[in-house]
Amino acid sequence: MPPPRTSRAGESLEDFCRACKTDRLHTVIVVDANGTPIRVACGYCHSEHNYRGGPRIDAPSAARSTLRVISPVVAVCSSTAAAIVVV
Ligand SMILES: [Zn+2]
Ligand SMILES: [Zn+2]
Repeated sequence: MPPPRTSRAGESLEDFCRACKTDRLHTVIVVDANGTPIRVACGYCHSEHNYRGGPRIDAPSAARSTLRVISPVVAVCSSTAAAIVVV
């Protein structure tokens, strides 16, 4: 079965780097209760910035790709968020 679309601090994911002006592999620094990356650090230039919604070089439309990425994350992770609140 496919892994859930969540992230944890220390994981690597691809995101658009404003400093590099291209897609780079980033290390996740902060995630919210839904497992959505909030802040990432570029593995290439080491700049730290807000997560920008994933790689965009191969996306036909930036606005459409943002919607496509965000909605499944929110839907999948409600149980994770509840567990964190209880602890
Ligand atoms: Zn970056
Ligand atoms: Zn960079």
